[in-house]
Amino acid sequence: NPVLEVRDLAVHYPLRGRRGTVRAVDGVDLQVHAGSTLGLVGESGCGKSTLGRAVLRLAPVTRGEVLLDGEDLAALRGEALRRRRRDLQMVFQDPLASLNPRQSVDTILTEPMRAHRLPVGPGRVAELLDQVGLPASAARRYPHEFSGGQRQRIGIARALALEPRVVIADEPVSALDVSIQAQVLNLLAELQERLGLTYLVIAHDLAVVRHVSDVVAVMYLGGIVEQADADALYDQ
Ligand code: ADP
Ligand code: ADP
Repeated sequence: NPVLEVRDLAVHYPLRGRRGTVRAVDGVDLQVHAGSTLGLVGESGCGKSTLGRAVLRLAPVTRGEVLLDGEDLAALRGEALRRRRRDLQMVFQDPLASLNPRQSVDTILTEPMRAHRLPVGPGRVAELLDQVGLPASAARRYPHEFSGGQRQRIGIARALALEPRVVIADEPVSALDVSIQAQVLNLLAELQERLGLTYLVIAHDLAVVRHVSDVVAVMYLGGIVEQADADALYDQ
């Protein structure tokens, strides 16, 4: 059974100052199996980010369902919803834009746990940093003191803080130098294996996702137009 399933998902935005809607996502069905990676590719503006955010209810869902272990997130309320949200975490394109520059890495990594009223065990921050290949001394420093690749490692560590089961990575390497991209993709693959994570990796560039994906889905104008095993893509 899939860990993450999207059924007939639609996100329609109102057009500013005009009648009608933008069908950013329109009738998408996806299944992502435990421990696997679904790569979602397509040109800019086709609806990838909106789809990723709609899964986490960060975009307004017009229609359809998002199921985690077969459970519809929209049916959950209160503590059950809070608990379920921990299972789904997001890694963003630009770590600098998504990390608060005034917060130390220690604060950035412990904030998700505080927000969920979870105890922060001694050594937890060092453990998170170690998982992403950063030294424990990074905890005292601030985002601007790191390189782009290191900042994305911090963004990944923050996503791991709540021990999620599913990670949605939206263009996780497209803001990085080409030489650093492979390192971050390799890290994501290692973490998947070690922690048994299930991934949805979004990218406009097929070259970015095909090496880390088991299945690649191609999005066009809000819909999935093609889906194939990543292996099949190497022959073309
Ligand atoms: P992608 O991630 O593939 O670049 P997006 O999901 O960002 O695509 O955008 C899909 C479409 O939805 C685009 O036409 C975009 O302009 C529109 N869109 C995205 N977010 C919003 C929003 N908050 N309000 C209105 N339209 C939006
Ligand atoms: P990307 O293409 O990298 O996904 P965008 O530059 O399209 O990002 O969007 C940046 C932010 O602006 C996103 O939060 C998106 O939801 C929002 N956005 C995009 N298009 C529109 C739009 N037409 N109206 C309002 N907000 C939008």
